[in-house]
Amino acid sequence: MLNIIICGAPGCGKGTQSDLIVEKYSLNHLSTGDLLRKEIEEKSELGLIADNYISKGNFVPDEMIIDILMKKIDSQSSNINGIILDGFPRTVSQAEALEDLLEKRNKKTTILVDLQVDEQELINRLLKRGETSGRSDDNLETIKKRLEIYQEKTKPVNNFYKKLGKYAAIDGMGSVNEIFERISAVIDSKLES
Ligand code: AMP
Repeated sequence: MLNIIICGAPGCGKGTQSDLIVEKYSLNHLSTGDLLRKEIEEKSELGLIADNYISKGNFVPDEMIIDILMKKIDSQSSNINGIILDGFPRTVSQAEALEDLLEKRNKKTTILVDLQVDEQELINRLLKRGETSGRSDDNLETIKKRLEIYQEKTKPVNNFYKKLGKYAAIDGMGSVNEIFERISAVIDSKLES
């Protein structure tokens, strides 16, 4: 079973690469950003709360997102090849909660793939996406805030997985296919071992 975490700063290409990984390795895609945006679209109570955080570039509270993710993982069929987590864990306490949850279910994280992209390139990509995405958080002010929060809260998650020996840095600059080949090489090496 493959349990992949795809991580990196906003705009690093997590969503695009997740789609390709899902197709090649037949994994279930769990994107916390997508789950939250769906709640916002449906104007659910949870969506209204989440919107307040997301539109300002802030993270939703750990307890809220951990609860959403746990329910999602537990509602999946047991005969899947594995999952790809996109946008979770974003803080060390989310990482601890995830590892605890997986351990209790006799599962474990295979690898965290950290997509590394230059900051100016991230800003350019997100501004471009903002022209068509309709996302309330794809504007310059919010993008800068998200990048700061990434440095402060999400970067330490990399060290958490480095200590577990489950960390792979991937050069996220280049074409979509080039980056996908780099990620596939890492995943394939895990399948062989
Ligand atoms: P994304 O689509 O992954 O870029 O997520 C969009 C926004 O949703 C983030 O900027 C956060 O406000 C919120 N979000 C998504 N995942 C998480 C998470 N694991 N923890 C806290 N907030 C999250």
